[in-house]
Amino acid sequence: MAIGSFVYQGSPQRVLFGSGTLSCLGEEVQRLGIRSALVVSGREQKSRAGEIARHLGSACRAVFTGAKMHTPVEITDEAMEIVARESIDGIVAVGGGSTTGLGKAIAFRTDLPQVVVPTTYAGSEMTNILGEIVAGSKKTRRDPKILPETVVYDVDLTLTLPAGLSATSGMNAIAHAVEGLYARDGNPILSILAEEGIRVLASALPRIAGNPTDKDAREDALYGACLCGTVLGGTSMALHHKLCHVLGGSFDLPHAETHAVVLPHATAYNASATPGAMTHVAQALAVSDAAGGLFDLAQSTGAPTALRDIGMPGDGLERAADLAIADPYWNPRPLDRTEIRALLDDAWHGRRPDPRKR
Ligand code: NAD
Repeated sequence: MAIGSFVYQGSPQRVLFGSGTLSCLGEEVQRLGIRSALVVSGREQKSRAGEIARHLGSACRAVFTGAKMHTPVEITDEAMEIVARESIDGIVAVGGGSTTGLGKAIAFRTDLPQVVVPTTYAGSEMTNILGEIVAGSKKTRRDPKILPETVVYDVDLTLTLPAGLSATSGMNAIAHAVEGLYARDGNPILSILAEEGIRVLASALPRIAGNPTDKDAREDALYGACLCGTVLGGTSMALHHKLCHVLGGSFDLPHAETHAVVLPHATAYNASATPGAMTHVAQALAVSDAAGGLFDLAQSTGAPTALRDIGMPGDGLERAADLAIADPYWNPRPLDRTEIRALLDDAWHGRRPDPRKR
């Protein structure tokens, strides 16, 4: 095997993984020297946030439960008022990618230490990336201050994630790994993590769909999310993430569902230019065609497979194609507007990617 030359940058993060790990939270907060934490969560996770606040005792100064999808800056401003007023010296975020995003937004502005307790498979906790909605459009940045210092993965907290959300969130994680495999700054170390991440998630998601309280499957999926998030943190995003940002940012489509629908099609688009990456994905899925295998996986977990089923208007596809190529991310295959429009058409109808067309 030819390795070639590469650059790998490990992230300075501490990761705890297991069942019941939430009991270590106080110790982890203390380890970072946090004495006046702000516990953040979304509205639905209010009771979990309260539980954590009680667990932290005097180390928790305040709780903010206003986290929202895509981290609108107005919400961050509200949280920042509490940070200033209460002399907050650290963040504890419990929830999905939306909550993690709020914690990161505060850390970006203050450089406060963060402990993240993820409850979905978004993988954001493992990256130095922050996406925010500023004046109606999504802005994405990377900064070392954004990377959470400590991540506490507790499988027990994921048992309540509904089957539908588990499937789409898991496909979101797989998307990080697929794009990492063909990223221009990818490397063989992250490729191993990516293939393993896809493999464990592909095995876990159908089991979760069948029984959302299957703890072994939950453990596999959370581990996969950790691996896939690590890959996203170490590589640049390409066409798939660009399309999802366009569809989420300009058409308000739901984040994880959009990833689940678009991934097989973005993979098919890039397949001819990325044979090595396709081999990794196909091996992980134990199939011969990576794009078709991703479509079948989404379908078998009950995730949506058509953009028209998740709120995309058919008359928006032309504009989406324009936006996808207007300010593009680097992509392994050159972007061709006609082909991107065809990709969006396939994704809108929910057609299975056809290897004979490539
Ligand atoms: P989310 O955080 O919005 O959560 C989705 C829903 O699931 C919410 O209603 C939430 O209350 C609920 N939920 C979460 N955990 C639960 C649990 N264990 N049990 C029951 N309900 C639960 O969605 P998400 O998909 O996790 O995150 C999406 C956000 O994350 C987007 O804003 C996206 O841009 C961001 N993201 C960022 C990165 C990054 O690296 N910056 C990576 C991936 C996603």
